[in-house]
Amino acid sequence: MVSAKKRILLIATGGTIACKRSDGGLTPVITSHELLSYVPAAKSFCVVHTLQLMNIDSTNMQAEHWIAIAAAVEKNYAKYDGFVITHGTDTMAYTAAALSYLIRNAAKPVIITGAQKPIDMDVTDARTNLLDSLRIASDDRAYGVNIVFDGKLIAGTRGKKERTHSYNAFASINFPYLASVQDDRCIFYIDDKAGLAGDTVFSHELDEKVTL
Ligand code: ASP
Repeated sequence: MVSAKKRILLIATGGTIACKRSDGGLTPVITSHELLSYVPAAKSFCVVHTLQLMNIDSTNMQAEHWIAIAAAVEKNYAKYDGFVITHGTDTMAYTAAALSYLIRNAAKPVIITGAQKPIDMDVTDARTNLLDSLRIASDDRAYGVNIVFDGKLIAGTRGKKERTHSYNAFASINFPYLASVQDDRCIFYIDDKAGLAGDTVFSHELDEKVTL
C-alpha cells in the first residue's frame, strides 16, 4: 500500500540555523522558505509549507512569542499532519517546555529544532537536524511537543542545552530519548501513541509573574 505523503508546516522563528554573517556578527535573516530549500530530500516523504513567524535570536524569546507559536500551530492544526519549528538553541528547551503546556495532548507531532551552525555553511548540523525533524514529523508514531537535535528525539519537558559548541548539544533529563534518526530511519524507543486519549487542548495565556 502506498501511503500519501505527510503534510508538514515549517514554522521559522530565527536562531543560528537561520543566521548569516554580518558586520555585527551572526544575524537571523534566512527565511523559512530558504531553510526548506536546503533539504530537498524531504520532498521524497512529505509536502512542506512554510510560515515565517519571526526571525529573532532566541535569547529575545518572550512569553508573547511562545503564545504566538502555539497560536500558529492551533490555527493550522487541522490542515497539517505535523509541525516543525526552527528556533535558536539558547532558549529552545524553555520554548519546548512552554509549548508542551500550551499545546496539551497533541496527537500530531510538534517538533522544535535548530542548529549550532547556520544552514548556509559548508559544514553544519543544520541540514541534518532539519531533515531529521521533517522525518520525525512525518512518522505515524510521533506525537506531542518534542525537540529533535543531533539525531535524537527528546520530550519537550525534558530537554536541556548542555553544550555550547558540540553538535550533541541537548540532553534528555531523567527520561530516555524517545527515538533516534539514523540516516533515513526513525527508531522509536518509546512507542506509546496508542495510549493517547482525548482531544488536543490549546491554551492562550501564560502568567508572566513567575521567577526562579
Ligand atoms: N543565540 C542563538 C539563539 O539561541 C544560538 C543558537 O541558535 O544556537 O538564537
